[in-house]
Amino acid sequence: MNIAVVGAGISGVTLAYLLSEKKKRGANIEITVFEAEAESGGCIKTIVSDGFMLESGPNGILNSREHVRRILDGGGLLSQTELSSPLTKRRYLEIGGALLKAPQGVWEAIATPILTFQGKLRILKEPFIPPKTDFNGDESVFDFAERRLGSEAAEKLIATLVGGVFAGDAKKLSMSTSFPRLYELEKEHGSLLKGMFARIKGKKSERHARPKDSYKLISTSNGMKGFVDLLENAVTDVSFRYQAPIKSVFKNLDGGYTVTSIGSGVEVAERYDAVALCCNAKAISLIIGNIAPKLSAEFAKISFAPVFMVGFGIDRTAVSHPLDGFGYLVNYVERAAVLGTLFSSTLFKGRAPEGRVMLSVIGVGDGRNDYFLKSDEELSELIFQSVKKPLGITGAPQTVLSFRTENAIPQYYAGHRELINLAEEAMREHRGIYIGGNSLYGISVSDCMKRSLEIAESIESFSARKNQSKTESWQKIR
Ligand SMILES: Cc1cc2nc3c(=O)[nH]c(=O)nc-3n(C[C@H](O)[C@H](O)[C@H](O)COP(=O)(O)OP(=O)(O)OC[C@H]3O[C@@H](n4cnc5c(N)ncnc54)[C@H](O)[C@@H]3O)c2cc1C
Repeated sequence: MNIAVVGAGISGVTLAYLLSEKKKRGANIEITVFEAEAESGGCIKTIVSDGFMLESGPNGILNSREHVRRILDGGGLLSQTELSSPLTKRRYLEIGGALLKAPQGVWEAIATPILTFQGKLRILKEPFIPPKTDFNGDESVFDFAERRLGSEAAEKLIATLVGGVFAGDAKKLSMSTSFPRLYELEKEHGSLLKGMFARIKGKKSERHARPKDSYKLISTSNGMKGFVDLLENAVTDVSFRYQAPIKSVFKNLDGGYTVTSIGSGVEVAERYDAVALCCNAKAISLIIGNIAPKLSAEFAKISFAPVFMVGFGIDRTAVSHPLDGFGYLVNYVERAAVLGTLFSSTLFKGRAPEGRVMLSVIGVGDGRNDYFLKSDEELSELIFQSVKKPLGITGAPQTVLSFRTENAIPQYYAGHRELINLAEEAMREHRGIYIGGNSLYGISVSDCMKRSLEIAESIESFSARKNQSKTESWQKIR
């Protein structure tokens, strides 16, 4: 069985790696990866200049999720990654121009000066708020948080956090699809706090079995592009075609697919048994137009948050903040051009030369597209002025690096559940078409890898069924 994987971002490369491992173990599969650009990584890019490193996207991924460990442990790749500093557990919130420690749990939320007495009391009432049972539509993240925790916590804690995860607006994102695990807590336990305590209790009993150093961020000495390369270099017996965008996919009468790619200006049409779409929603919409026009139209409607990542490489002595944490997020209601700042050189070694620090600022975000009209220089300057006060910066940066990504993060607005249903229906109807990447089931690197793991398992069983039916038809002929 031959498979076309479309896109060599973390989703496509993870899928290629998992399929190549299955092939090593005897699966009868041929894999070709098509990538539109000249190299792998997609929205994960790393640049280094004057010894300062800037990531275009994530700075690391959490190693705690079971599937991440399963994927990386198999080929011994986990041991080749680097662990973040223990300081990264500490996070800050910028409120009124000052950085305050973000609460890491219920007790810290009760002690924090960020919330008023009434706001804290409202959080403590959460277990007594009955769960919503009559809910038929998609509730927004903000409405969900306000209903469960009160408006103060919804605004200062939850909506602020959402800015850091989705570069999005909590009032527009759907709770059930953007944060499914939190959403399930209410459904399963009737309350977020009760659910969290139940999980903590469960985790305590598992603690002895949990590997050392879990719950940390991981990356590599070459940054997150190095992480993608680690997986790509471990792939064997897979053909990678770069600068070969897929233009269209047609369904054949025999159940297979004709995949048309463009290489050196020439169109090439080839037959594949399965096609795994690991590119973004806009690309998927164009590719599936012939097979599933309705789904294609819905994918075209997915909105993306624009992101401007800018890194300031600066002398340590010019920053008075201790930079003793992951970074900070800007309070939802006070946000302008800056969503938050990562203390990149605290997170991992090698992000800045000795005696200097690297501050990576996430700028713009959903609903703030007007900032995108500014030039890189104007936007970098505006952002630098905004981070000076909270970080106590007195000098100018020696190095300024930036990435501008217009379609950076897909936004799961209300109605996303219907899109998932439609996509699943299309995948059932067109056996062999798989939708991977970050369009449906989560935008984090870890969610993308999980989806690739699910696709790899489905392809393996699809291939086994195909081989079995081939053998049965031969037996009938004989
Ligand atoms: C600024 C930013 C910050 C982020 N921060 C975090 C974070 O802190 N933590 C976290 O977990 N996640 C974060 N994410 C999200 C995460 O990085 C992405 O969701 C994930 O990397 C997406 O990977 P992907 O492989 O699915 O898609 P992509 O990275 O988009 O890769 C898709 C690939 O498909 C290729 N392609 C497109 N069209 C075609 C075609 N027609 N034919 C062939 N190839 C095609 C593209 O060139 C690209 O290489 C962030 C993302 C951004 C942009």
